[in-house]
Amino acid sequence: MAKRKAPTSKAKGGATDPEDVFPPDSVGIAPLVRQILKNIGEDPDREGLLKTPARVDRAWAFLTSGYHTDPRDVVNGAIFTEKTVGTHDEMVVVRDVEFYSLCEHHMIPFFGTIHVGYLPNRKVIGLSKIPRLIDVFARRLQVQERLTQQIAQSLLTILNPRGVAVVAEARHLCMCMRGVQKQNSVTTTSSMLGVFRNSPQTRNEFLSLIKG
Ligand code: ZN
Repeated sequence: MAKRKAPTSKAKGGATDPEDVFPPDSVGIAPLVRQILKNIGEDPDREGLLKTPARVDRAWAFLTSGYHTDPRDVVNGAIFTEKTVGTHDEMVVVRDVEFYSLCEHHMIPFFGTIHVGYLPNRKVIGLSKIPRLIDVFARRLQVQERLTQQIAQSLLTILNPRGVAVVAEARHLCMCMRGVQKQNSVTTTSSMLGVFRNSPQTRNEFLSLIKG
């Protein structure tokens, strides 16, 4: 798949970072959306719905763009070798990163925050890349457990650190909207690799850093 060219405009911490990877324009589902509208009892030809199939198509191209994005492309150029890092116990923690994903059982959003920590082994990653990496895996059909693991595993592969910790806290609209119960419940998942798994002290330090 050909990548679209990034725009030249810059935004601080925004979505138009020149190194962002862009979704395809279409995933070809407009005719299917039109059929859904008919099946649920709507009139796809009424004014308010005329452009809906095309809009939904573009929205889904964006929401599932993670399928077309290689995590390595996202972090490309932002991996730095620090000779002194890794000789001490400097934990890197990025907390409260917002994410939005889609549950694979209902294709309805779940969303929340993700906290990432790692103990470098010489290689460090530009901090702005961690939210990008999260988006690569969030913009797919997911279950929260796998999303958490994939983020941790990709950091492990890319940085070869001494350990990685990822904690995700999310609300699932498939539970809230369908009134299953516990409308305000938050689901927490975690993936602890390397020293975060082996050392309770390291794990607890991370968990206390992401609290509050
Ligand atoms: Zn669901």
